[in-house]
Amino acid sequence: MHWTKTLCLTLAVALVVVASMAGGAERKLRVVTTIPDLTALAQAVGGDLADVETLTRGTQNAHEAEVRPTMMLKLRRADVLVENGLELDAWADVAVTGANNPNIVRGSAGRIDISRGLPILEVPAVRVDRSMGDVHPLGNPHYSLDPGFAPTITQNILEGFSRLAADGRPTFERNRQAFLDQLNEAMTRWTKTLEPFRGAKVVVYHPQWIYFLSRFGLVQAATLEDRPGIPASPGHLVRVIQQMKAERIKVIIVEPWNDRKLAERVAQEAGAKAIVLASMVGGVKGADSYIGAIDYNVNELSRALR
Ligand SMILES: [Zn+2]
Repeated sequence: MHWTKTLCLTLAVALVVVASMAGGAERKLRVVTTIPDLTALAQAVGGDLADVETLTRGTQNAHEAEVRPTMMLKLRRADVLVENGLELDAWADVAVTGANNPNIVRGSAGRIDISRGLPILEVPAVRVDRSMGDVHPLGNPHYSLDPGFAPTITQNILEGFSRLAADGRPTFERNRQAFLDQLNEAMTRWTKTLEPFRGAKVVVYHPQWIYFLSRFGLVQAATLEDRPGIPASPGHLVRVIQQMKAERIKVIIVEPWNDRKLAERVAQEAGAKAIVLASMVGGVKGADSYIGAIDYNVNELSRALR
């Protein structure tokens, strides 16, 4: 009788030890991001210390994500929300309110805005009235797939993660550095591939590419949209076609979520071609990682400009 009691006690103690191990040092940060690019970068920093989920898909227009109950379920359990900022993912605030999770409300330690410290392009010179439908009222928010910004973005993520899991900081730093080493190697390749096209003009459907194009010395000559988020009007398209002919512009870049047929019609009239690039990680087949998406965009664009 006595030995069974001892055995029971020993087992009970062992169970408590196992449970505390699983619940203590092993607990991963529960991270939610608004867009897939940030999932890729948060995974690069968090590694084994973070579980990362995202609220949207790479084929979607991130400006117009619909807030769904599934979003709120993900957010309810989150320690961290990584957001793009500059109003691209302003809908996340609605989802956070619905999730009722104080960890990730605006201003809390668990909220990471990756735009901190980035130089913003296309900031309107005059105040833009959102009622006009312009979806870039504070400047262009599409910086996430510019590889030159990945060091700042991953630093913002690292600081945020370390606020909540200080013990993990050395691991986050190592993970980030390993990722940046890979990225730097790829950057040399991308720069070399696009070098022959320096100064070339391209037309874009939505102004999603200005950071990427500027990084590699390419020029955005026009957009098919009248203004960011405002559909193309016939008069505007006629002017774009004239400009493309006059300036011998060869390429229109289209986002996976935009009207490819319309872009192809314009391209045909202008004697150019329309290509779909990954406006986000996962936007097209073969663009499943951060470096993979940029690889895809650099290769497709250089082929089209040749
Ligand atoms: Zn946009």
